[in-house]
Amino acid sequence: MSTIVHKYGGTSMGSIEKIKSVAKKVILEKEKGNDVVVVVSAMGKTTNKLVDLAKEIDTNPDKREFDMLLSTGEQISISLLAIAIQSLGYEAISFTGYQAGIKTKGVHAKSEIDSIDTDRIKENLEQGKIVIVAGFQGINENGDITTLGRGGSDTTAVALAAALGCNCIIYTDVEGIYPVDPKLYPNAKKIDFISYKEMIEMSRLGAGVMETTSVEIGYKNNVPIYVASSSKDTKGTYITENKNIINYKSVIGIAIDDHTSILTIKDILSKSNDISTVFEILSNENLEIKIINQIASDNEHTSLSFVVSKGDLGCVDKAIYEIKSKLNHVEAYEDLDVSTISVVGKGINYHVINKIFNIFKENNINFKQVFTSELSISFIVDNKYKQRFIELLGNEFDL
Ligand code: ASP
Ligand code: MG
Repeated sequence: MSTIVHKYGGTSMGSIEKIKSVAKKVILEKEKGNDVVVVVSAMGKTTNKLVDLAKEIDTNPDKREFDMLLSTGEQISISLLAIAIQSLGYEAISFTGYQAGIKTKGVHAKSEIDSIDTDRIKENLEQGKIVIVAGFQGINENGDITTLGRGGSDTTAVALAAALGCNCIIYTDVEGIYPVDPKLYPNAKKIDFISYKEMIEMSRLGAGVMETTSVEIGYKNNVPIYVASSSKDTKGTYITENKNIINYKSVIGIAIDDHTSILTIKDILSKSNDISTVFEILSNENLEIKIINQIASDNEHTSLSFVVSKGDLGCVDKAIYEIKSKLNHVEAYEDLDVSTISVVGKGINYHVINKIFNIFKENNINFKQVFTSELSISFIVDNKYKQRFIELLGNEFDL
């Protein structure tokens, strides 16, 4: 008999009907003779609705209270799932993050899991119960509830599997990991096996299926992760480091991030304090900067452009306002209509890059910025090119 962690996301838990079918799936696993720990997210779009409620009162609500509010979504799901399992004649018990022994550290709204004391979970598994744990939450050293950042239930699931030394199945509304979002590239062929590192890179650069931290935890602790559909019985995707089963492909996929924008500041006086003023303002606004580019236009003037996260929208507006009012000779503006498209894989070499540049040349597509990392090359393109660029890349790399 072994232990297994199942995780069901918001869509899979979106209605009472769906919760009842999750209950059946969990029971099926139990019937195989396994001890089952189930991690769930809030029902459907509940978390977004909770965010909106708080923002109706205050656009920048107190973080402690915000976490208190957001964590309630998962509490509804765990109890309903426990009731659904019990009504089918099986024993189940639900736990909040705190009750499951999940201790967190760091700031509210994006805290990290510090440790997990699995005693209570194990005791209940030994009693034959199915244990259901609220994803996305834990308790910090002050005894306050904190959340792990949006999408954080994946992290709860993988971290629990690491603590229990078992496998983790992420059940989702897609059938596994695709090399490109099938909504944008319907020909995309599902991936059977992907390495942790490639998956981390895909997630980090915008592929939405799994939250990045969860895969990082899986990688560090060697947790076998399987991503599969919660409603269909089709084959899913294994995230693993097992060299024998991973098919080496130089390009594994394309990640698309719609949440970037470019902030440009022109006519900065090179020999003044302008640049420090700009950085001071950006740091005060806590802008998450992904890339910085500086171009000298002549001996006296320079331009800076920053690739920033659109999630920080309000802050960018405020930074532009501050920059313009402190430095009235500069021009500052944000380019919102762009996306970052990243080609990800273990073999991003000159041969691959040359193919991509040929796509640009032959199809009259331009890019505004380019940046690379060990496992990827990313291009920021105007949204008017996005769809076509993705299709051309998909075809070129047989994704
Ligand atoms: N319910 C949380 C969210 O919407 C956590 C999760 O879904 O993983 O972000
Ligand atoms: Mg998710």
